[in-house]
Amino acid sequence: MGELRKIVQGTLLENEPMSNHTSYGIGGPAGAYITPKDRCDLAEILKFANKYSIETHFVGSGSNLLVADSGIDGIVLTPAKLLTQLEFNNGHVIAESGVMLGRLVKECIKRNLTGVESMIGVPGTLGGALVMNAGAFGGEISNYLHSVEIMNMSGEIKTYYPGDIDFAYRFSTLKTDEFVLLARFDLKEENSIIIQEKKNKASKGRKTNQPLKFRSAGSVFKNPKENAAGYLIDQAGLKGIRVGNAEISKHHANFFVNHGNARSSDITSLIRLARKTVYKKFGIKLELEVKTIGFDPKELDI
Ligand SMILES: Cc1cc2nc3c(=O)[nH]c(=O)nc-3n(C[C@H](O)[C@H](O)[C@H](O)COP(=O)(O)OP(=O)(O)OC[C@H]3O[C@@H](n4cnc5c(N)ncnc54)[C@H](O)[C@@H]3O)c2cc1C
Repeated sequence: MGELRKIVQGTLLENEPMSNHTSYGIGGPAGAYITPKDRCDLAEILKFANKYSIETHFVGSGSNLLVADSGIDGIVLTPAKLLTQLEFNNGHVIAESGVMLGRLVKECIKRNLTGVESMIGVPGTLGGALVMNAGAFGGEISNYLHSVEIMNMSGEIKTYYPGDIDFAYRFSTLKTDEFVLLARFDLKEENSIIIQEKKNKASKGRKTNQPLKFRSAGSVFKNPKENAAGYLIDQAGLKGIRVGNAEISKHHANFFVNHGNARSSDITSLIRLARKTVYKKFGIKLELEVKTIGFDPKELDI
């Protein structure tokens, strides 16, 4: 840690509880939670981690993340609060990975640029949104993508264009060892009334369908092609089931909520229960949408 401290120019928090950095409010300590000062700082940290084979994770705002109670024995790097430049050149948008998606959406709406308004209310950073190919109400972040800039573990910067990356429903082939630096989008102008209508519809749908009063990581499972995961979990009779302080939401069964001091093991128990019961009843294997760090795969599977 001493060596690492010497090279980090930004902030380094030692043994930092990941519960402070996940929307679940769950997760044990990370050895080093680092917000790099700039690209040079990031490059030096990545090269150091690579040289000494230190486990390294990239985290945006942790709104799609379940971290184990035992924590992360390594480095967590985040662009949040630092890589936050957002530039507009007519419809060409350049956004750094630490820009909050909500800010991007609002700034686009202000300029009558269409494409991302249906993602109003989706929490998280742009970096996380790209990796997850976040989307809502028919729109996905990859739809208007011009290019993505990443930094690899050797500190080299590369630009990917849409043809270089596969995007699908809550999926991208962006690699776990490449830090997303920024993205460029090409958006078109649209009548402001049409944009506002789409935004309001999405906003209303979100408020009606999601248990927004409680801490969660959004949808736990991807929707299988047969049916929505929430419907299957509900039909399996699991709505409202609790383990410790975690609950399969009564409002939306694909949201597992933290009622207070829930532990990651409470959430993983619910994950296994939902997978097992849905498989038994419908023969459908639920695939996780949330990203997990620090678990033995057996803790998550049936
Ligand atoms: C109440 C609620 C509602 C939600 N509704 C939706 C919804 O409607 N649609 C939807 O798609 N999602 C939804 N989500 C999930 C979540 O908001 C999105 O997946 C979001 O895009 C995650 O962004 P993040 O910055 O929090 O990413 P994180 O959770 O921090 O990380 C997600 C993944 O991205 C990687 N990552 C993050 N930043 C970087 C980076 N800079 N470089 C490389 N890798 C990186 C992480 O390693 C991880 O694999 C919801 C979540 C909540 C809590």
